[in-house]
Amino acid sequence: MSRPAPTRAATHPVRLAQGAVVTVLALSMCAMVTVSANARDGGTGLMPAAFAPEAAQVERARAGAVDVAADAIEVAQTAQAEGAEVAIDAAELEALQAATARLDELVVEATGDEVTAPRAASRSGEREETPDTEVVTPAAPTPDPAAPTDPATTVDPAAPIDPASVFEQTPAPAPVPLVPPASGKEDATTAELREAVATVATLTTTVRQSAEAKRVADAAAAQAAAEAAAAAAAAQAAADAAAAAAAAQEAQRAAWKQSLLGYSNGRIPDSALCGVSFDASVRLRCDAAEQLDVLNSAYRAQFGTDLVISDSYRSYAGQIACKRTKGYLCAAPGTSNHGSGVAVDLGGGIESFGTKQHRWMAANAPDLSWELPSWAARGGSKPEAWHWEYVG
Ligand SMILES: [Zn+2]
Repeated sequence: MSRPAPTRAATHPVRLAQGAVVTVLALSMCAMVTVSANARDGGTGLMPAAFAPEAAQVERARAGAVDVAADAIEVAQTAQAEGAEVAIDAAELEALQAATARLDELVVEATGDEVTAPRAASRSGEREETPDTEVVTPAAPTPDPAAPTDPATTVDPAAPIDPASVFEQTPAPAPVPLVPPASGKEDATTAELREAVATVATLTTTVRQSAEAKRVADAAAAQAAAEAAAAAAAAQAAADAAAAAAAAQEAQRAAWKQSLLGYSNGRIPDSALCGVSFDASVRLRCDAAEQLDVLNSAYRAQFGTDLVISDSYRSYAGQIACKRTKGYLCAAPGTSNHGSGVAVDLGGGIESFGTKQHRWMAANAPDLSWELPSWAARGGSKPEAWHWEYVG
């Protein structure tokens, strides 16, 4: 923006100091200048001298409202961007956008009207052009600070108010601005601006609150999702650990199953055998011992007593002694499963067919790979109700 004011101001007899005071002084001078201009023109100016102060007041009120409106638009647009960022209700954003657009129209309308005033004044009192047509437009560059010092141009009612300075002072106003209540004479446009700014302010507040609520809700949802993911990960880790443990156990059993293959019947060193928790005399291949412990727990839960074991691993020498004392009841040395560490002879009722203990064993032991061999079954080639073998 450029105006011829500075050169004229330098030669003007009335030279005022620059600063905020200028505004007030310039405004108060406005009437005087208008009066003198009208006097020179013989009272033919468009603005009657008697109404000049009132007209200036109206213009000033409008310019102030335009400034506030510009602020409100900026604040609303910021709020709108924030609301859009967190995807609040689209209707709220649209309402604010519409209200902001309406306010923007009013600002254009108000500033468009305003530019006619100085032109009318220049026609009445000045021969010089006043190209300043964007004084109150928010995007306008900083007005020439020397302008108010020239009484000839103070007829421009918008000049004393510098919207750019308003933006500089409040670059990002937290509160939503409002046009203050009318304190004097004002026109319909100013009243419309006030109302439109109030609408924008209300909708801006709504959008801000929704955006904040959405941010809080989003954060809570993210937190919940993170917790759910952590819980799922923990559950998966537990499942993985259980699977790994099961696999390890399976591998261990497989290894145990192979552990005695290098030994001949009845020649297994004690260090290669395992015991059970409920009977220190028992020696078995380790996987057979492990499952017999599990079987005993179930048996104990059912009968309140541990399994009674009269024989388990039997060495070659032991088998010879057995054969010597029990005759046909003992297999030939080197052929018995007792010599392989996978057979037990049981008592406590199991040694007789038909007892509840024997029936329980027949129903439950096979689940743990402990079975009565067919030859030892009732009706078998050599019935032995007490002889059970691990077949896992
Ligand atoms: Zn036996």
